[in-house]
Amino acid sequence: MKAGIHPAYEEINVTCACGNSFKTRSTHKGDIRVEICSNCHPFFTGRQKLVDTEGRVDRFQKKVQKSKDMQAAKKATATKKETAPSRA
Ligand SMILES: [Zn+2]
Repeated sequence: MKAGIHPAYEEINVTCACGNSFKTRSTHKGDIRVEICSNCHPFFTGRQKLVDTEGRVDRFQKKVQKSKDMQAAKKATATKKETAPSRA
């Protein structure tokens, strides 16, 4: 290997939201947190399970709702302008 051009490839810890953790080697600096791993993924466990351990679906739905609210507010102000009495 040529010296001085390769990133450090060191052992790091991977921690899953299910509580499982394992070691691997990576150029990533520091430990990694994942939300699904081979210990808890339905493909490996064979059990049906909601793959939403960190509330990601909930967070996404909140975001969508917020966007809808903002659009509704925008529409409300736009129609207000239209219905405002003209000077003529
Ligand atoms: Zn896991």
